[in-house]
Amino acid sequence: MTVGVALPLPVNQLYHYRVPPALVAAARVGCRVRVPLQNRTVVGVITEHGEPPDLNVTLRPIRAVLDKKPAVSASLLLLTRWIANYYVCAWGEVLRTALPSGHARHRRPKKERFLRPTSAFATAHGLKDVLEQLRGSKEKAIIRACLQYIAAGEPIPRKAQLLSEAAASSATARRLVAKGICEESEIEVLRRPDYGPLPSTPSRPPPFNKSQKAARTQLNAALEKQSFTTFLLHGVTGSGKTEVYLAALETTLRQNRSAIVLVPEISLTPQTVQRFRARFGDQIAVLHSRMSHGERYDAWRLLRSGQCTVAIGPRSAVLAPVAKLGLIVVDEEHDTSYKQYDPAPRYHARDVAVMRAKMSDAVCILGTATPSLESLYNARTGKYTLLSMKERVPVPGRRAALLPEIDLVDLRYARREQSFRGALSEQLRESIEARLKRQEQVILLQNRRGYAPIWECQSCGWLPECTDCSVTLTYHKAQTALRCHYCGQTRRLPSTCPDCAARDFDRLGTGTQRVQEELKEYFPHARVLRMDLDTTYRKDAHYTILDKFGRGEADILVGTQMVAKGLDFSRVTLVGVVSADVGMGLPDFRAEEHAAQLLMQVSGRAGRHTLRGEVLLQTRRPDHPIFAYVQQHDYIGFALALLEARDQLFYPPYGRMVNIEARGPQEKRTREIAMRWRDVATRQLPSQLKMLGPEPAFIARVKTKWRFHIMIKAPRVYPGLSDWLRQVQRDFGAVPSGYRIAISVDVIGSF
Ligand code: ADP
Ligand code: ZN
Ligand code: ZN
Repeated sequence: MTVGVALPLPVNQLYHYRVPPALVAAARVGCRVRVPLQNRTVVGVITEHGEPPDLNVTLRPIRAVLDKKPAVSASLLLLTRWIANYYVCAWGEVLRTALPSGHARHRRPKKERFLRPTSAFATAHGLKDVLEQLRGSKEKAIIRACLQYIAAGEPIPRKAQLLSEAAASSATARRLVAKGICEESEIEVLRRPDYGPLPSTPSRPPPFNKSQKAARTQLNAALEKQSFTTFLLHGVTGSGKTEVYLAALETTLRQNRSAIVLVPEISLTPQTVQRFRARFGDQIAVLHSRMSHGERYDAWRLLRSGQCTVAIGPRSAVLAPVAKLGLIVVDEEHDTSYKQYDPAPRYHARDVAVMRAKMSDAVCILGTATPSLESLYNARTGKYTLLSMKERVPVPGRRAALLPEIDLVDLRYARREQSFRGALSEQLRESIEARLKRQEQVILLQNRRGYAPIWECQSCGWLPECTDCSVTLTYHKAQTALRCHYCGQTRRLPSTCPDCAARDFDRLGTGTQRVQEELKEYFPHARVLRMDLDTTYRKDAHYTILDKFGRGEADILVGTQMVAKGLDFSRVTLVGVVSADVGMGLPDFRAEEHAAQLLMQVSGRAGRHTLRGEVLLQTRRPDHPIFAYVQQHDYIGFALALLEARDQLFYPPYGRMVNIEARGPQEKRTREIAMRWRDVATRQLPSQLKMLGPEPAFIARVKTKWRFHIMIKAPRVYPGLSDWLRQVQRDFGAVPSGYRIAISVDVIGSF
């Protein structure tokens, strides 16, 4: 017998091995195997039985089969193969993502030894009899310890603990076993992170309002039919979307089917997990990157065995090993963290979720207050079914939780009239002061990317833009030129502003740290927390900071976009955006979409509860159309305007974009590799595709590696794209060692 094995190597092929007779029964499709490769051993997954393509080669034998039951189900094999095809990577690379700690490590369940009275003596009464007959004092001590636990109705602890409590040795334990009074056993224990106690009774759903009911009715109808449908659940922040997910989960579980809930990693807080556990208890298995390998392995196994039926986790949880899938929820579907940047597979978990639901006749819910333009487009063309929830859930003491008031602060005016040079305008400072007096809380967002080499007119907010690509130009010091990061168009930095004739250019934006320093100057007594990449690189730093703020141990939280996501603090009544233009300045055609999502999301943080919220947006371009929409809470209106512009330039969702990144230690060599890739591709470029670049990446050098990008634009429907990319890769051949080429299909924000 021979088997085809997918190995976690960036090579698009299966490896074939011979199965020794002793392993034939065990070597099932979907099982992990240890196999020789050149002079080492690797772990892969059996994906097929059968003959290799070339019958003349002598095959090497597999060394071991690591699973009793296939680790990857037939349906996950299909899904992972689709991902490998669509995102142009190796099947084995996708399977590595689907398994709890990669193929490579062979994890074992954790087992513990127990020493317990045999069934004949396992009652308090029986043990008392035993005590009278025993003579050894150590033996008696063990029995007494057991007796205490049994009398208290508690389980007897592990053997090691029991013996230490009784101050007895293993030899004594052996004597008890020999006498038939006790027995030893080895029991598998599960490593579960501690999420705190479960409530004794499950939480109950609140009585639904009209729009929640309408959403539930439609979802239930689709779930009952068990036919694939994707819903775009568009509900403003606080409209009760999570309750709708919970209702759909309940229907799914009642049908004896399972579910997956995807959330952005950053919003996978104990708060969120607790809400799901409070309703469904131990049916929930959490998968996230902060768990230990052992915990992840156990969560994976609970799902695989069907003991848990709901997987909740970030991106990679879309590959959770659940059987009989009925529902996938993608919360905050617009969130860009669903797209993996590195390493392969560079997949988009939302799009994979839709495909997985399709393959399983399941329902997929994409929930958000600010849909991505892709999903909005799909809802408008009928591919997705739109569910809308336009109002916040009323809270006790108030008839309806109102959306916050959003005001603009014109920084140009502040600068002229108040000869103001800092980050916080007078108006923003006054609002902060008022909150401090009332002991309410403030969130300040400064979404500056430290590396943005973008120049802006300080007096009118003018930003240089590419005439062809509608993205902001970036400044290249070496050439003292402005350059389009997509098409390479270059221009000199003008000496005076073309709009207002001022000679006052400066780099865009101020960092969060400077904002924090300014706060210290103005409000020396305020307690300020900062949340950005610098303060959160440690594992649990997010949670520590948010937890502190939630408990009221700080007055002001300053941070990057991290502060905008999914937070719910009842005492926050002011949200200030220090520079609402910054996000728009990125050299990315999605910059305005992301800016609008961010502004809407962060505005949703204010006044979630009984206190009415206020939002202040500081800007140099108050007449930018985005603000009128944001002030009206009309995200969709703005998104529709953006869609029209995308249509004209064939940007997604009207076309597709693929990014090819060459990366390596030497600038010249990396550029040459990118050029060669382009040359190979040009020779066979289908007329439907358009190729731009190579261009130096926006951040030209990351961790000592130089990066050059090629952009490929394809029609929205162009089934030959993956095959063509594979063909170019094959013709390109081996990449020199130390260098690499990364393909990102449906790329998002690659700088
Ligand atoms: P979203 O997920 O849209 O932000 P949530 O589901 O978190 O909204 O709901 C916001 C708050 O309102 C939560 O505290 C939730 O428990 C509560 N809530 C949701 N639906 C209702 C309802 N129908 N009646 C009362 N409270 C509700
Ligand atoms: Zn100007
Ligand atoms: Zn351009």
